[in-house]
Amino acid sequence: MATTTRDSDLGRPGAGPDAPTFVETALALGGKSALEARSTGTIDRADDQVEAMFAERHQTANSPVHLAVWGSSVPVDLFRPVAAEVPGACARVMNDSLEVVRQRKAEGTLLDAHGKVSPETLGELAGVGYWGLLVDVEYGGTGAPFSAFAAFLTRMATIDPTVAGLASVHGCIGAVDPLRAFGTAEQKRRYLPKLASGEKLSAFALTEPGAGSDLTALKTTAVLDGDEYVVNGEKLFITNAVPGRTVGLVCRIEGAPAVLIADLPDHEDEHFQLVRYGLYALKHTHNNGLRFRDFRVPAENLLRPSRGDGLTVAYHGLNLGRVALCASAAGAMRGMLAGMLPWADFRKTYGAPIGTRELVRRRVGRLAGLIVGCDALVAWCAGLLDQGYRGEMECVVAKIFGSEAQKEAAIELSMKTHGGRAFLHGHPFGDNVHEYLAPCIYEGEGEMLGMSFFKSLIKGHGKSYFEPVGRAIAAAGLRKPDMKNPVHLWALRSPLRAYAGWYAREKFASMAPRTPDLSGVPEPLASHARFAAEGLRRCRFEISAAMRTHQLNLADRQCRMAELSRRTQDLVVMLTTALYAPGRGDLVVRAADVLCRDLKRGLTGARPSDRDFRAATSLGEAVEAGGFAAIAGVDPGAILMTY
Ligand SMILES: Cc1cc2nc3c(=O)[nH]c(=O)nc-3n(C[C@H](O)[C@H](O)[C@H](O)COP(=O)(O)OP(=O)(O)OC[C@H]3O[C@@H](n4cnc5c(N)ncnc54)[C@H](O)[C@@H]3O)c2cc1C
Repeated sequence: MATTTRDSDLGRPGAGPDAPTFVETALALGGKSALEARSTGTIDRADDQVEAMFAERHQTANSPVHLAVWGSSVPVDLFRPVAAEVPGACARVMNDSLEVVRQRKAEGTLLDAHGKVSPETLGELAGVGYWGLLVDVEYGGTGAPFSAFAAFLTRMATIDPTVAGLASVHGCIGAVDPLRAFGTAEQKRRYLPKLASGEKLSAFALTEPGAGSDLTALKTTAVLDGDEYVVNGEKLFITNAVPGRTVGLVCRIEGAPAVLIADLPDHEDEHFQLVRYGLYALKHTHNNGLRFRDFRVPAENLLRPSRGDGLTVAYHGLNLGRVALCASAAGAMRGMLAGMLPWADFRKTYGAPIGTRELVRRRVGRLAGLIVGCDALVAWCAGLLDQGYRGEMECVVAKIFGSEAQKEAAIELSMKTHGGRAFLHGHPFGDNVHEYLAPCIYEGEGEMLGMSFFKSLIKGHGKSYFEPVGRAIAAAGLRKPDMKNPVHLWALRSPLRAYAGWYAREKFASMAPRTPDLSGVPEPLASHARFAAEGLRRCRFEISAAMRTHQLNLADRQCRMAELSRRTQDLVVMLTTALYAPGRGDLVVRAADVLCRDLKRGLTGARPSDRDFRAATSLGEAVEAGGFAAIAGVDPGAILMTY
């Protein structure tokens, strides 16, 4: 549950790793400090290095979202989810793990005396193979495809979101993914079997007191001394960090970010201490600060990515973590729905159950829509990652949508429906409200991530058409370019001509847009998909216009970037949801329709029609009437709260 948002990725002109990036140039011309320009340029370069790890067809420029916005047509097939294969061995581990947690919950033995998931529970889960799901078979795991793992996390989170979250911390952002993706054969042999068996559980230590959103401010250092690194510094907010854990520790080695696989000692000593604080969120697991004073880590534990540095390692795991977060949100929201239904049936006001009222039915319908939206994003993103895509923009959409949906579901839908009882001790809302909100912050705060999404989206366009303008401005020594000044226009004529050519070609092509192939998609989902596809195609003009208007100051126009990012993300959610639902049953199709209607109105500013209201309330009524299993895919009896 780590951080990282890339602050500026507008492109990199010039050759060589130390050449200034477009954003460095832009910030410098815009009068920003040399430190800010250099820092953001460093992150820009780390991103380029992650990109280079992927085959060209799987890089950002060829990702579904990028192609939909900038390509010649919207690649609808790349937005369809791929069915998750669940090998037999994985299915066994998954079912056994669910059974362990179900049983311990029922017996009241899931948590220890401090309210944390108990060591015995962690041990029993180890016994059935839970911690090895993402570890390859040759190292003692079951090698689950990520799409199967993500779908399973939703089932686990429906029963217990904390246990689901721990699997993500261990397997996605903790030590497992960094070792799988960047470890040498020797490092994998040494660590992965222990991580698969659960003998060692892991965490990821990136955030520091002075470095959360701004990763260029990392201060923890590791200095080579003989065959060991000597680590000094402090980490903050590290989930699952207790003595004895194996931690992916991000620190600076000779100035550059690096990741060391560090075994925390079994006891605190003068070199390693926990920094304890009260934390409302993740209350059923451990989250601590870590203080290192001349703490020694074997030099052989340094991960050496063939390209890039420690941030490369961090970005890789975070992609998986963000999809896992959306999958957990889908599970947590099923739990909320399961709690709302019996209450809405039981609670009578003015002589009738509140569940018969339109306002409550609309909430139930909206919640079903949010769940299906999360399911769609999880299936789509996890499938892309399994196919080898970098998928960074897509995973960011899943993270933001999942965390915002969970927040809305908790406060607007669940809390309001439960009324005053929501605040009683023992009520799922009151007891878990911080759990529901925290995903908006960890693994990157939503708006910061939204800007990062936007910057990834415009990077190629900026490189092709705006970076040459920036270079020409710098070469001509123009401090404030003025497009009405003929001297300035003349200095910029060549890059401006290239841009005008692009614009004219695109405008011409947009007069006869290609109709996406939506065979197999019934109405009204097909019309939602068409709307989203057309909207995504049109984004190129809005985005390019913002780049034209704000030019080198765009990096500072955060509100505009956030707004454009939001719109693009909503279109992506709409298209993905409309393509996911067909064939999954009537209620899923109706839930997808309700979510798409809501998203569409948000984009067009239209008021809800009576048909919109009816779609939501009649869906709510159908869910209340026993359609819950179809939405949730779980046995309601197992999770209903008793009243
Ligand atoms: C429950 C929980 C679990 C966590 N688990 C882990 C973990 O396991 N490992 C780990 O490494 N970290 C973990 N974190 C840390 C988490 O990832 C960070 O809290 C998060 O990335 C934000 O960093 P910060 O708190 O330092 O916010 P800050 O960097 O202090 O930023 C605060 C806010 O300021 C705004 N802001 C910041 N910079 C800008 C900017 N340039 N422009 C505009 N607005 C800006 C944003 O809205 C941001 O949210 C966890 C946090 C929590 C709460």
